[in-house]
Order: sequence, then structure tokens, then C-alpha cells
Amino acid sequence: MSPETTKKKLYDMVILGAGPAGLTAAIYGGRANLNILVLEHMMAGGEIASSERLDNYPGFPEGISGVEFGQFLEKQAVRFGAEIVSATIEEADVLGDIKKVSTSKGDFYGRTMVVATGTAPRVLGVPGEEALRGRGISFCATCDGPFFQDRKVAVIGGGDSAVKEALYLTRFANEVFIIHRRDKLRAVPFLQEQVLNHPRVEILWDTVVKSFDGEDRLGKIIVEHVKDSTTLELPVDGAFLYVGRIPNTGFLKGVEMDGQGYIITSEEMETSVPGLFAAGDVRRKFLRQVITAASDGAIAAMMAVRYLE
Ligand code: NAP
Repeated sequence: MSPETTKKKLYDMVILGAGPAGLTAAIYGGRANLNILVLEHMMAGGEIASSERLDNYPGFPEGISGVEFGQFLEKQAVRFGAEIVSATIEEADVLGDIKKVSTSKGDFYGRTMVVATGTAPRVLGVPGEEALRGRGISFCATCDGPFFQDRKVAVIGGGDSAVKEALYLTRFANEVFIIHRRDKLRAVPFLQEQVLNHPRVEILWDTVVKSFDGEDRLGKIIVEHVKDSTTLELPVDGAFLYVGRIPNTGFLKGVEMDGQGYIITSEEMETSVPGLFAAGDVRRKFLRQVITAASDGAIAAMMAVRYLE
């Protein structure tokens, strides 16, 4: 260990991300008496905090709000001694025995590290998307849906997120278009049934966005039918993008990942680097859900305990 490292506080476990995976790792690690730091740049709960309701987590028969669930996780992690610092991760040096992470609040060191940084929304990369972001274009229906009372909005995508959020938006908007590039939804049948029969949802099948247009705010979307290449102007006040996610791993080097940047782990959450574990949506896995993230976090923490022993 360098003299510089010894001067700074060295944690048993530094957890990157305070979503369900990171905070569950903190709960399990804290109960095993590790001293733990959790770094998060947004609010506790991660992605689920921007979801209106968590409906499929066992033990909550009526569901629970995403924000409240995140707050409960944070409280529980703090009860077991975790220190939570709000900071943006810039880069991590994880290859040595002591793992270092550089952030907007300085450098932190851990004997072990758990990467639980989740994913970020994918963008389409079409004209107008960047310029009108926050001016009619949103990635969070829960946050911005109420601004579109009695307006027309579009949701782009056909997966669980797109369909779930389109249904949520019907509470406010008087018309919700779903723009989907294929002729079948990817979302689970339970969600599909609700949206296919909804009187205020219209699905534009086999359709892609060519551009988002507007002066100060979004006014219309130019869409194209993929089979006959006809274009259409769709006047809308809001557009919500749910076209999938990309892993937040850009700050990591020297760790084995798949072609998309998801971290490859063993079933025990070990990465290709000793002492470095990954948990939750950021790792290559079959099912990205809150429950599987929590499970990953528990396993990662107990493996970190074993590694330290
Ligand atoms: P997803 O399942 O990857 O769906 C992304 C959707 O966007 C797909 O319909 C895809 O079309 C479309 N898409 C991707 N790139 C596109 C592009 N460049 N242009 C146009 N369309 C594009 O992502 P997600 O819905 O965010 O879900 C992510 C994970 O979270 C999934 O595992 C999902 O099951 C889970 N989730 C679960 C719930 C729940 O309530 N249980 C809620 C939300 C999310 P194609 O269908 O043609 O590929």
C-alpha cells in the first residue's frame, strides 16, 4: 500500500451504486461487520426510484412506490453502518490489491469493490433528440408525466418499460402513441393485454423515429414506416424514450466484459479481477429485476467477506 493510501480512509468494501444491488451488498456486508462506503450520484434506489410503483417484489401485496422502496433500502444499509456519499464516479483503478475509485468528491480506497452501477437509457441518435432533451423529450415518465395533463405524448420502444410507462402516462395525457419498430411488442403478455385494449393508446407498428422537431419545445415527431418507407408527422407535446439500456461501465478498465459492456461474472459475482465483484443490472445476466439485483448484492457481499478472510 502506498503512503498516500494509508493517509486516506481505506474501506473493507467500496460499493459503486446505491440501487437494490449496491444497497443489499451494503446491508449484508454491514451485518458482517465490514466498514463500507457506498457511492451514488443520484438518489438511493437507483433506477427503481424513478419507477412509479414496484409491483412484483415479493412481500408487498399492494406494491410499493419506487422512491419509498429506495429510501427503505438506504435506511437499512445505514442502520448496518454503511457510509453513503453522493459523488460522480470518474474512473476506477481496480487491478491492484487495493482498489481505488476517483470521483467528483475525491479518491476512495477499498480492499474489495462491488460494481453495482446499473445501466443508463439508450438514445436513438436521431436529429433533435439531444437539443430537445428536457424540452419535451424525457426518459422518465414518473418524473415528467404530470406535465402532460390533457396533452398528446409518444412513447418509443416496445419492451416492458415502454409499455408500463405508456400505461402510466394515460393518467395524464389524453392520447398516448407507442412508436415501435416491429409488429410485435417485446413486453410481457400481462402488460401487452392492458395496452392493446386501452382506449387512449394507439400503437404505430413497424415505425421508427426519423427526427424530433420543434422550436423551443418538442412539437412533432417525424416517423417512418419501415416496410413502405412512408413518412408521417406526428404532432405531440412529449416523447418518452424507452429503447433499452446500456451498462454504466465506461469508467472501468481491465475487467472482462461482453460486447455490449456488461461485466462478466461467475455465479458468485466474481469478476475477472480478484477482489472485484459486480452485482445487478451492470453484469451480464438473464433477468434484470429488483429481486435479482438484491440477490446479486447479497452474494457479492458474502463473497467479499470470504475474500477478505
Ligand atoms: P428492452 O426490453 O431491451 O426493450 C427495448 C425496446 O426498445 C424493444 O422493444 C426494442 O425493440 C426497442 N429498441 C431498441 N433499440 C431501438 C432503436 N434503436 N430504435 C427503436 N427501437 C429500439 O428494454 P426495457 O423495456 O428498458 O427493459 C429492460 C429490462 O428491464 C428487461 O429485462 C425488462 O424485462 C425489465 N423490466 C421489467 C419491468 C417489469 O415491470 N417487470 C419493467 C421495466 C423493465 P425490439 O423489441 O424490436 O428489440
